[in-house]
Amino acid sequence: MARVVFVGAGPGAADLITVRGARLLAQADVVLFDALTDPALRELAPHATWVNVGKRGFARSTGQATINALLVRHALQARLVVRLKGGDPSVFGRLEEELDALARAGVACEVVPGVTAALAAAADARRPLTRRGAGRSVGLTTAMTREGALRGGHCADSEVFYMAGRQLAALARRLREAGWAQDTPVSVVSRAGWPDALHSDHTLASLGQATVLHAGRPTVVTVGAGAAPVASGVKPRPESPALETGQEQEETLRP
Ligand code: SAH
Repeated sequence: MARVVFVGAGPGAADLITVRGARLLAQADVVLFDALTDPALRELAPHATWVNVGKRGFARSTGQATINALLVRHALQARLVVRLKGGDPSVFGRLEEELDALARAGVACEVVPGVTAALAAAADARRPLTRRGAGRSVGLTTAMTREGALRGGHCADSEVFYMAGRQLAALARRLREAGWAQDTPVSVVSRAGWPDALHSDHTLASLGQATVLHAGRPTVVTVGAGAAPVASGVKPRPESPALETGQEQEETLRP
């Protein structure tokens, strides 16, 4: 019987997959892949059978029960099945349902992490999600409930919202209700990790304006400490005594 390996493809360009993920992909007999994964990843497994099980927003797509059944069926027939997921499999990836279906069928599984969209967006925008003093916690939140209702929240110093791209004005209202101030910085990044990634800066009051700019593109919205631009004029001090003694590193770990 086969092994199923869940591999995080990263958020965009094929070269953001991990080396471990790429190696496993090269050995796969069957690859079940999502809509948001880069077609260039196929070059890493040209001999495998590629099965598109993509789901995308409100569009018509393969249902979760069908994906679970396909996974089990292929696992019973192939040697190595790779379930390729956009970003990281453990973040809004319906991983629990698929792990559960495979466990019930007695199939051995492994999970290889990937770069989640929130981290790729922070990198593209050069907005560190944690900040010494002001940004001690980060929340990853889906803006959509199972019923399709929109939710905002204020639990962490930096909150990153997934699946909110189509309803940014409504998200801004929910965030104000959750206690965020009108002038809170908001950083919006769409297609993070791709060469055509787009980043725009807003406050909560003007967030609605980002809707048109990012329309039709996968988008994450970072609110709070991690959305603020890094102060200009503050240059790194590569030869500072703090770096030489390792003190800087220590402080980074304990803000
Ligand atoms: N497992 C994925 C998330 C899947 S949920 C991960 O770890 O990134 C799908 C949502 O992720 C999208 O609605 C969008 O909010 C976000 N997303 C995925 N890829 C993205 C990208 N390249 N840029 C910005 N947001 C992205």
